[in-house]
Amino acid sequence: MSTIFIDRDGVINENRPDYVKNWDEFRFLAGSREAIAALTKAGHRIVVCTNQAGVAQGLISTGAMEDIHRRMLAALEEVGGVVEQVYACTHGKTAGCDCRKPRPGMLLRASRELDLDMSDAVFIGDSITDMQAGLAAGIRTMLVLTGLGIEHYRQYYQHTNRPFHVALNLKHAVEIILQGMHTFSVSDQRALIAAISQ
Ligand SMILES: [Mg+2]
Ligand SMILES: [Zn+2]
Repeated sequence: MSTIFIDRDGVINENRPDYVKNWDEFRFLAGSREAIAALTKAGHRIVVCTNQAGVAQGLISTGAMEDIHRRMLAALEEVGGVVEQVYACTHGKTAGCDCRKPRPGMLLRASRELDLDMSDAVFIGDSITDMQAGLAAGIRTMLVLTGLGIEHYRQYYQHTNRPFHVALNLKHAVEIILQGMHTFSVSDQRALIAAISQ
């Protein structure tokens, strides 16, 4: 059993450059609901951590954001997926809060409030800032190539000192987790792949 942190936009649902402002604009990515259900079925604890600066900018009301999260959780529960809590940073991009990713505040707060086991926790996201937040919280990270992922992979993978696991999408990320491969460090995984391919 592991703690699985998941980013929202670009991982669970389609990213929108102008923010998902209401439930009508919320579109699940193919397979994401079933992937979350598979994590629940396997006994993992799931927490969503999302930056929603559109609230501070006045583009999304707090009520609309909460409505989106209520409906998202209900739609997940319909297929057997349980997200314990959604943490959202609603502060502005330059507010300097400790919760806006790449800072790890939401993950650390969740860990405290929900008494999460962080020893083999993983953060699945589509943005380099998700990877940075996870690494800053001392956990493993996995970049999915949906949402901003493919662009961020091209931009950052070769230039970061501590690369992250990569998965095609949430379904693929969950397959890796169900095989226990997320508990490998990235260098372990590279050594393993090198050994197998010799
Ligand atoms: Mg995202
Ligand atoms: Zn914040």
